[in-house]
Formats: sequence, C-alpha cells, structure tokens
Amino acid sequence: MSGVAIQSCGACGRSWQFRRAACPACGSSSVAEAEAGGGGTVWSVTTVLRAPLPELDVPGGYGIALVTLDEGPRIMCRAEAGISIGDRVRVALGEDGLPRASRA
Ligand SMILES: [Zn+2]
Repeated sequence: MSGVAIQSCGACGRSWQFRRAACPACGSSSVAEAEAGGGGTVWSVTTVLRAPLPELDVPGGYGIALVTLDEGPRIMCRAEAGISIGDRVRVALGEDGLPRASRA
C-alpha cells in the first residue's frame, strides 16, 4: 500500500484527500478512512530549480507532480526525474512522510 491516507463516502462512493467530516459531493456524514492503493496518473509536472527553502535545494532541481490517484483525489508529490503528463506512476510516502511519485 501507499501510506497515503484518503477518505471515502459510504453514500456516493466519492474519495478525497483532505480530512472532512462530510462528503464534499453529497454532504453525507458516512465518511470512512482509507489508504490509497498507490496507482495514479500524472496530471501535471514541473521542475523546481529555485527551492523555497535552502534545505530543500537540490542541484539540478527536483520534480513536483500533481497525480490523479486511481481512487479519484489529485495530490501533490515529489516526482522522479523524467516523468511526464499522462505517465502511470506509483505514489508512496517517503521517509519524510511526504508523497513521492515514481514510474509504475
Ligand atoms: Zn458522498
């Protein structure tokens, strides 16, 4: 599994990432915690060449991707170099607890 926590609605089946007490689609409070399977598709990707903090600086920059999980939510991830829009990826939490996307 991915370690990426999501929630899903017991009434309409929609899934989302950020914790809520009620479904954003239908308003039901039948909300269940779940773990994303880890499969996803790259929605967008960019390379950060100027890190916002010195401790995040990586020579040559680092990738950031928006990945649409197979369950539906779209999440931001650190991205393996070279991935492109439309690529199938695996998302899993890194040692720092942040999601990372790598080629599936
Ligand atoms: Zn719902």
